[in-house]
Amino acid sequence: MSSSSSSFSTRAIHHGYDPQENEGALTPPLHLTSTYAFDSVEAGGEMFAGDRVGHVYSRISNPTCDLLERRIAVLEEGEAGLALASGMGAISATLWTLVAPGDEIIVDRTLYGCTFSYMRHGLAKFGITITHVDMTDPENVRVAMNEKTKVVYFETPANPNMRLVDIKAVSDIAHGGNATVVVDNTYATPYLTRPITLGADIVVHSATKYLGGHGDVVAGLVVGTAEMITEIRTFGMKDMTGAGMAPFNAMLILRGLKTLELRMERHCANAQIVAEMLESSPGISKVWYPGLASFDQHALAKDQMLGFGGMIAFELEGGLSAGKGMMNRLQMIKRAVSLGDAETLIQHPASMTHSTYTPEERMEHGISEGLIRLSVGLEGVDDILEDLSQALGRISAQHAA
Ligand SMILES: *Cc1c(COP(=O)(O)O)cnc(C)c1O
Repeated sequence: MSSSSSSFSTRAIHHGYDPQENEGALTPPLHLTSTYAFDSVEAGGEMFAGDRVGHVYSRISNPTCDLLERRIAVLEEGEAGLALASGMGAISATLWTLVAPGDEIIVDRTLYGCTFSYMRHGLAKFGITITHVDMTDPENVRVAMNEKTKVVYFETPANPNMRLVDIKAVSDIAHGGNATVVVDNTYATPYLTRPITLGADIVVHSATKYLGGHGDVVAGLVVGTAEMITEIRTFGMKDMTGAGMAPFNAMLILRGLKTLELRMERHCANAQIVAEMLESSPGISKVWYPGLASFDQHALAKDQMLGFGGMIAFELEGGLSAGKGMMNRLQMIKRAVSLGDAETLIQHPASMTHSTYTPEERMEHGISEGLIRLSVGLEGVDDILEDLSQALGRISAQHAA
């Protein structure tokens, strides 16, 4: 067992599990069960009433998911965790629990495409007001806050354009108005940023990305106070979405977490080198990476992040058509959505992950049509650089011709 004072990797590997309680098995057992037998009718009744702890049905809780929930909670330095079927399951179960018709959610300008769609086309349909403000200036949150504001929600770094939000400043302002602060920490992971230690109330994750890390599972996680997590579990997850995580997927995420620190160190190191190479390449008009001195919020990144992550956004001088040509010439790097995998992945948000926005909305929300998103993987960095150079090289050659 490990305490919450152990190092990050020690917690990620050991927390909450003792082989001696499991016949000596080094690896936690996979509990493939939908339901649980009660000692007696009375015991079952007490569990349903919440007067006795124990598992009832796997849409509510499962021992394999429970271990993952305790582990992500200790990594995020929150009280409790919750495992869901996907990142969207985590986000929707959380927000369905927190808001009611007539309430308002203040969100940053930039959001992952399906989160944007869930809010603007989903929650809005049920009488919830979604107000976008530019949270790169926290004062904009103060100006927008009013008595209807229940939730302040943002991503940092944001998908896809890498904008950062000052978690501490925005949380202080939101709490002045009694709003709950929800942060999507998918890009940073708890290894690089722990929003709860900076004042946020709830962290949500697409565990599909870095936490799983191997591109073989879709999963989501939530961390918050024990009281909030119980509410999200028994209402948002159990009744409103039914989006509990399958125990097999919990096992894959537990495996991914063991190497999270190692992988993030390599993602960060590779991405820094790739970002610098892109910035110095002819034909590229702009690179957004928090580790570049030219990045607008570089100072905030140094303050709030232990490293600068594996995600890069950039744009080519030739715009969209040059970008498509470059992407199609790549050989090792895979054209794919998702991120945080061992493989370097590249995609075009305007036609893929952020096609849920209209072109006007993308313009309004700072997602330009030519923006390219790169998830720098764990391959040898020279191979990543070589593939990008050969794909870009022909662009400069074409320009010269
Ligand atoms: C992928 C992603 C999501 C959605 O997660 P799924 O696991 O695909 O449902 C939410 N937020 C961010 C920032 C993401 O990148």
